[in-house]
Amino acid sequence: AHLARIEAVDEKVHAFLHVDREGALAQARAVDEKRAKGEKLGPLAGVPLALKDIFTTEGVPTTVGSKILEGWIPPYDATVTKRLKAADVVILGKTNMDEFAMGSSTENSAYGPTGNPWDLTRIPGGSGGGSSAALASFQAPLAIGTDTGGSIRQPAAVTGTVGVKPTYGGVSRYGMVAFSSSLDQGGPCARTVLDAALLHEVIAGHDPMDSTSIDAPVPPVVEAARNGSVEGMRVGVVKQFRGEGYQAGVIQRFDESVALLKKLGAEIVDLDCPSFDLALSAYYLIAPSECSSNLARFDGLRYGLRAGDDGTHSAEEVTSLTREAGFGPEVKRRIMLGTYALSSGYYDAYYGSAQKVRTLIKQDFDKAFEQVDVIVSPTTPTTAFPIGERADDPMAMYLADLCTIPTNLAGNAAMSLPCGLAPEDNLPVGLQIIAPVMKDDRLYKVGAAVE
Ligand code: GLN
Repeated sequence: AHLARIEAVDEKVHAFLHVDREGALAQARAVDEKRAKGEKLGPLAGVPLALKDIFTTEGVPTTVGSKILEGWIPPYDATVTKRLKAADVVILGKTNMDEFAMGSSTENSAYGPTGNPWDLTRIPGGSGGGSSAALASFQAPLAIGTDTGGSIRQPAAVTGTVGVKPTYGGVSRYGMVAFSSSLDQGGPCARTVLDAALLHEVIAGHDPMDSTSIDAPVPPVVEAARNGSVEGMRVGVVKQFRGEGYQAGVIQRFDESVALLKKLGAEIVDLDCPSFDLALSAYYLIAPSECSSNLARFDGLRYGLRAGDDGTHSAEEVTSLTREAGFGPEVKRRIMLGTYALSSGYYDAYYGSAQKVRTLIKQDFDKAFEQVDVIVSPTTPTTAFPIGERADDPMAMYLADLCTIPTNLAGNAAMSLPCGLAPEDNLPVGLQIIAPVMKDDRLYKVGAAVE
């Protein structure tokens, strides 16, 4: 049914870069066989899923939305891919994304944009716009995304779906193509809080293949999602997450959510986190710096595209010709920014200062979580904007992540879930819930209560 749905609507939506029809049917048949033989089935047996094209999949193309990996067939599965298969999930295919996960609209994909199913002339968010659009257009009930600065939560917000950025280290990064290693985090996307929890439980947990993976039990997310409640909880509202640039309808729905939390028995606490005003600036130094280092491996020699390979060019020339042809403008911009920020003489002024700001943000969160159990905010300042509106204005694009970025810098967990439509444009608004490190279960407890 889902393959038929993809065939019917994805020409218009363009959520998928690659539909693995044969692979999906084979996985589904394998589940049927296991069931017929009475063998033990995985926890998500037979449930179809759309996988962001940033996770390696053995024998299935993985492009990361870039021309530089066009035609590359990975020889191995990412840990997330492996765990999905072990849970008997049916992987339908790989979803569209901003090239190397750099963007907030999926317009930076080298393979063309994805439309928002609510209005195909608008963006589905980014970088994981393919995964969120697949959910919102009922092409898959579950999807996987990655969140470096908001790429799970912002697409969820603008498509009226649920997306969770687990605590950093909660889900293995092995086989997840690196953008900014200290920020990147894979996580579940779904249409309901409980579905997200069921997927979270399958992909999370310690992995010896990832040195930053946390060696501790997975927080009890499913139990929390089944027992939604905010009774007696202290919920923080941060002063810095509203004001100039926020759409009136977004603030209206957010205020209504806060009122609902209060009605359901939560105590609302006003918080001041002054360092959050600096988060965007710090992020746009740290993320490009790490990207400039991580993307050095795309040298035209190891995998994917190779340009200038005609015997007349040196290895250095092949590398630069490949990068010239294979990387899009946003990726080049980030590599240049990052290389500059890390260069000798500038390190203290840029990267070093950004790391100090990161510490301040972490301290603001620590102080906040002494007073409250969770923090809530709008997920994004505005609803989905028209495709093309911010494409030539990187600064305007970066503002989409105003509320999501502090969490990536501090490493704690956050969820976005729908909280109604903005009255002025009838487009979905996202409510963000933020929890302390390894308290991911609180997101589900609160999310299930207000869903
Ligand atoms: N939009 C942000 C960026 O462009 C975040 C991307 C992400 O979370 N992968 O970097």
